[in-house]
Order: sequence, then structure tokens, then C-alpha cells
Amino acid sequence: MPVPLLDVNAQNHPLESELQAAFTQVLKHGRFIMGPEMETFEKEIATMTGAKHALSVSSGTDALLLALMALNIQPGDEVLCPAFTFFATAGAVSRLGAVPVFTDVCPICFNMDVNDARKKITAKTKVIMPVHLFGQCADMDPILALAKEHGLKVIEDTAQSIGAQYKGRQAGTMSEFGTYSFFPSKNLGGFGDSGMLVTNDDEMAEYARVLRVHGGKPKYYHHYVGGNFRMDTLQCALLSVKVKRYAQYTADRQRNATHYITELSKLNGVVQANPAHCKCVATQDTWLAAQNAKIVLPVSYEHNSHIWNQFTLRVLGGKRDALRDHLVAKKIGCDIYYPVTLDQQKCFANLPASSLSGCDVSHRVAGEVLSIPIYGELTEAQRNEVIAAIAEWVA
Ligand SMILES: *Cc1c(COP(=O)(O)O)cnc(C)c1O
Repeated sequence: MPVPLLDVNAQNHPLESELQAAFTQVLKHGRFIMGPEMETFEKEIATMTGAKHALSVSSGTDALLLALMALNIQPGDEVLCPAFTFFATAGAVSRLGAVPVFTDVCPICFNMDVNDARKKITAKTKVIMPVHLFGQCADMDPILALAKEHGLKVIEDTAQSIGAQYKGRQAGTMSEFGTYSFFPSKNLGGFGDSGMLVTNDDEMAEYARVLRVHGGKPKYYHHYVGGNFRMDTLQCALLSVKVKRYAQYTADRQRNATHYITELSKLNGVVQANPAHCKCVATQDTWLAAQNAKIVLPVSYEHNSHIWNQFTLRVLGGKRDALRDHLVAKKIGCDIYYPVTLDQQKCFANLPASSLSGCDVSHRVAGEVLSIPIYGELTEAQRNEVIAAIAEWVA
């Protein structure tokens, strides 16, 4: 039985009649731009995340861009962001003429290495932009403390982690701005591109709201140069149907992750990452070698509530592509997030050397990672198929 990496239809098709009703309602009133469903959906996200203000926007990428614009990031300003993340994180920085400065990541949770971030702060640094990657929060307390110490702002790229928690706090709401994405493969997956910007700051919210509509307030009177960062009414209406079910979607992913961890840990050569090795790669490697580990399973830090946007294995000994080929041959969906770190992207090659230095752990994990199917609608038979294929490979 083939198992796809993601099956959006399995989640969306059961909602067909409700989605059609939402569509029909918007079709009838015809207010396709900033119609009433927009405010409803924004309130739902604000309630779900506890953010004071939620602004729907055209994409997760535009949410990042808008956050940086609202913080008045200028050409030459430096923004610290992890080297191991999706391109948009740093792309948004570059589009404003600002300079992304890449930090290394933790080998256990794949998120920003705060000690490395500290080393890379300069007089030009304005923002720290941690990413809550794969559904798990970055270590926010030290990041926020570092920002405070140096008078920096923080933007949480929460594209992959809406609803995840850090020490009981909601991802995206712990700093100046949080950004969400409703790209179809995210945990709250929409029907096209869209996203959300959240903040607890009244003035920032108001400024971002104006920038969202070309910086005009009132309409046709422009104090600022903004953009068109609006989310369609239709998309808001459709996502309102799904947001009501979000807790279940998350629970389903968490159940799948628990099942994988329980079953895969039983295999020889498969071990779960040890959170104690967060700060010391050498200790980790000795420990992994002692167990003849071939595959390292992901782990959720105890203080985190992980929402499993990805279930990402690390395959040791240069064998990652071999496991991928094996799974592909067995018709098990899998993919590499991400094969090339941002500091190694061609488009950033002419950044100053100080932007691109010291990302060794990022380079290493980019060569080891492989994500396997974790979407909520996977059946037990499908999960077992994935486990059997991995068992066959490690045997
Ligand atoms: C998906 C994603 C984005 C961009 O979101 P879009 O809605 O696709 O523009 C930004 N950052 C990260 C980490 C992402 O995974």
C-alpha cells in the first residue's frame, strides 16, 4: 500500500459540504476583499493563540515581510536567523535590503542555537528571528533575554508551529511579532496561500494594519509605503471551517508521533535523540556510537508541546539517501527538509563572510535529515507500513 508524505484530500474532502456552504455565503454577499469572514477568522486565530491582535495576510512569507516593515528594518540592518530553515525566513530580510546573519542550530530540536546567536550580535543587529521548526518551539527564554540585553526585537517565524507551546506559552505570542502560514502543507492547511501576523502591541498592530493596505489611511492618503498583504475573504471563510477542528488535527499528529517513537525505538540501531545533548555534539556522538545508532528519532523537549508538522529522522553514517531510496522504492513518501542550508544558497553567496560563518551543525543535519509521513489522517495500517519499511532497512 503506498503511503503519501501528505494527503490534503484526506483532511479536506470530509468537510466538502461545509466548505461549499462557506463558499456560497461569500459568493452571495460578494465582498471578496476584507469581507466579514476576515474579521471572524482573525478573531478565531486570536482566541486560539491568545494573541491580542491577529492580522490575516497573503502568506506566511508576507507576514514576515510585514513584521520586518512594521519594525522599520532598513537596508544594512542585520537580522539573526537560523541557517537551517525554509528560505522565506531569510528571503524576507533580504528583500528589505537588510542582511540575514545565519546562526547555527541545535542538533536535537533543529532550532536556533542561542549561544551562537549571541556571538553574532553586532552594532547593526536589530532583530532576532527564531523559527519554531517542524512543530517545536525554539528555546525562547534565552532568546528573549538575549534580545532584551541588547535592545533587539524578536519575530517568531511560526509558519510550522501554530498551536505549539513553550512552557505553556503559545508559539508566536512570546515576542513583538509572530507569523503563521496556512500553506496547504502546514498544520492548519488552507486552500492556497495565506497567513497571519500576530502581536500583543496595540501600536504595532495598528501600523501593520495600515502597511497591509499600501500604507494608506484613510484610503488614498499615504503616510507610508506599504503593500498589498491582504488575505482573501474566501480563504478566511474556508479556513474558519477547519480552525474548529484544529485541536483534533493536532491530537492526531501527536498520536502518530507517539506510535512511531514507541515502535521504531524497538528496532536495533534506532534511538531517540537525547535532549541532554542539546549543547554538546561531541557527547552526543560518543553516545550514539556506543549504541551503534543508525537512525535518530526526533524528541520533544519536556517544556514544549510539539505539534509535529514534520517527523524528522536523522540518518547517520552518510546513509540518508540510501534510506530515502529504500522508502521511495517501497512507495513510502518522504522528503528532505532541508537539503541546503541558507548560508550555502547561491543567492546569499555575496553576503559578508560574517553572515555565513559557523553553521557546522546546520550543514551536518542538512545531510542527515529525512521526514516521513505524520499527517493526522494516516491510518494505523499506513503507519505500520512505514515502520515495516524502516525495520527492513535497519535489519
Ligand atoms: C512555509 C514557511 C514559510 C512561508 O510561508 P508561506 O505561507 O508559504 O509563504 C516561512 N517560514 C517557514 C519556516 C515555513 O515553513
